[in-house]
Amino acid sequence: MYNKNMNSYQGKSYNVITYGCQMNVHESEKIRGILSSLGMLETDSAENADVVIFNTCCIREGAEDRAYNNIMALKPIKEKNPNKIIVLCGCMPQQKKGKYNLKEKLPFVDIIIGTHNVNQLAQYLLKFAVTKKQIYDIVDKPTGALDVDNAIRDDNINAYVNIIYGCNKFCTYCIVPYVRGREQSRTPQEIYNEVKNLVQNEGYKFITLLGQNVNSYGKDLKEPTTFAELLTSLCEIEGDFKIKFMTSHPMDFGDDLIKVMKNEPKIAKALHLPVQSGSSKILARMNRHYDLKHYMSIIKKVKHAMPNISLSTDIIVGFPGETEKDFNLTLKLLKKVKFDQVFAFMYSKRSGTPAAEFEDQIDEKEKNIRVNKLLRLQKIIQKDQTKKFFKRTYNCLIRQINGVAVGITDGGKEIYIPNYKFINQNYFADVKIEDIRNHKLSGVVNDKR
Ligand code: SF4
Repeated sequence: MYNKNMNSYQGKSYNVITYGCQMNVHESEKIRGILSSLGMLETDSAENADVVIFNTCCIREGAEDRAYNNIMALKPIKEKNPNKIIVLCGCMPQQKKGKYNLKEKLPFVDIIIGTHNVNQLAQYLLKFAVTKKQIYDIVDKPTGALDVDNAIRDDNINAYVNIIYGCNKFCTYCIVPYVRGREQSRTPQEIYNEVKNLVQNEGYKFITLLGQNVNSYGKDLKEPTTFAELLTSLCEIEGDFKIKFMTSHPMDFGDDLIKVMKNEPKIAKALHLPVQSGSSKILARMNRHYDLKHYMSIIKKVKHAMPNISLSTDIIVGFPGETEKDFNLTLKLLKKVKFDQVFAFMYSKRSGTPAAEFEDQIDEKEKNIRVNKLLRLQKIIQKDQTKKFFKRTYNCLIRQINGVAVGITDGGKEIYIPNYKFINQNYFADVKIEDIRNHKLSGVVNDKR
């Protein structure tokens, strides 16, 4: 309908502001690709840019408030410069019962679209250039291709690659299934081609496969493929690289995946497996589809198969109905698993989700006390954990940082390599940890070059 011959954006500047998770970070990389295909140039100033894109998140109220306030801050600038174009996209406008009535409250925002049609951004911009009328278009299902092939990535070592969109799990606290829709996997061939190009032509060392629940990958495809099968085929790509993935769901985390992780050197030995609570009663109320026993059985198998694995998790503190006893079960879980990293959040109501209607909400002050207690405990565990690295060998990405050679483990720990002659940048090698001082690791490279 609107083609690039009508493009009045050539040479104009753009600025993309991103809120939220890695999925959104990567979405913004794709948005940058779309804008550059219109001949636009990136600037780091929202105030000066000809087009400003707000790629929003609504998983927590804070992210939503921040985005809203930042959009409002541009209102006087737009009044002075009516030619400036403001676009709002992502999860925030996609919500049915959002905190803000965006159409009504933001008449000065030129284009408001959701998560399912952001891939059509070029078309919306071209249309706006002709009509000059606000576009408000929120659709319920994805339109057009799931991915663009010209994303402009932020990082030159780690590249994000989407493998599955949406989520079918409906955890009672989570807004994602309502704003991202049902699970939709990309085909293995499409993913394979993208990863191969990133590794062999663009030199990426880490590929992080993204999805709300990567373990559910492929169930919806015409020819169903498991996530473990996808990983196996990606490991056949030639090159010096590793694959990471997030996020995993304990319910769909099978033994086949543990086997592939263990056997394939190209799969990073790092796992982010959100548990959310140490209480099976709370897990049931969260509709997580697993109990503590199931979660612990996965951890046991993973640690047995890969003793050096780096484990991290997410925890929600103060979920409705969480008693002191439930909370203590979460603390007990932390002491038992000894995660390398814990991301703890206080439960916050999201309207439109079942848990927001639960009557037994926990007092904010109490949530605060609990989350701080949990974080203090985790700090002690993490400090203590450093000891486990002594004399162990980790396959690391060797880099030069500020003139010093450093090995980065799959879990992101830095190991300093003193007196090491660095030849070329960024390759994988085994590093043995020989010293730990003030929680800083140093080691020697088993260099096979
Ligand atoms: S698995 Fe649960 S928490 Fe994760 S995106 Fe789906 S509904 Fe949300």
